[in-house]
Amino acid sequence: MIRENYEKIMEEIEKACQGAGRRPEEVRLLAATKTRTPDEIKEAYSVGIRLFGENRVQEAREKIPQLRDLKDAEWHMIGHLQANKVKYAVELFNCIETLDRKELVDELLKRMERKGVKEIDLLIEVKLSPEESKYGCPPEKVEELLSYTLRFPQLNVLGFMTVPPFLENPEEVRPFFRELRCIRDRMERVFNKKFPELSMGMSHDFPVAVEEGATIVRIGTALFGPRKY
Ligand SMILES: *Cc1c(COP(=O)(O)O)cnc(C)c1O
Repeated sequence: MIRENYEKIMEEIEKACQGAGRRPEEVRLLAATKTRTPDEIKEAYSVGIRLFGENRVQEAREKIPQLRDLKDAEWHMIGHLQANKVKYAVELFNCIETLDRKELVDELLKRMERKGVKEIDLLIEVKLSPEESKYGCPPEKVEELLSYTLRFPQLNVLGFMTVPPFLENPEEVRPFFRELRCIRDRMERVFNKKFPELSMGMSHDFPVAVEEGATIVRIGTALFGPRKY
């Protein structure tokens, strides 16, 4: 099932790229693995997926150590990160996609130093959705957070991530993806620096996200099937 789903998703990514004049190699599929078992994750690896995302540090602490033999797998933190979990996150993840406040920067520096972690990749999560339940840095504070984070060369800010509101019609999500890209373009001008990564798009709206410039699409249900809690 995972193989079939994977092939279908890759075809849709290709199609969206063609429509937008992009190369499919510019887009990476991240398997969103919350609630999935190590065996399901190994199956996803066996069909060719190398990028995985977990939402909760606790769950990642249980699963990732069991999956260390998936040598070139890359792990991203894609859920809200509590400051008291940073000490684990710096050792578990190659990239934290949900940097959204200065407090986390300070905690990252402290914990990286203590654990001898030389550098870490980061994306800034931007809150574009008015929903109270969504996390992220407000758009008007992104410049300030970036300016603070970029003072530290061990913190490698590669781009931006967002979780838009769930809207039935994916076309209605397009403005949110476009806004993230605009924020990225503006920050590239302000800091005279490239921020190549845009992590946006999930199972039901990823083709639209690809058309708007996504370089990472985070896919759970379209790959693994419905989540069972
Ligand atoms: C669960 C999750 C996804 C994947 O959601 P699906 O709709 O199952 O594809 C993507 N991003 C984040 C942050 C998630 O928590």
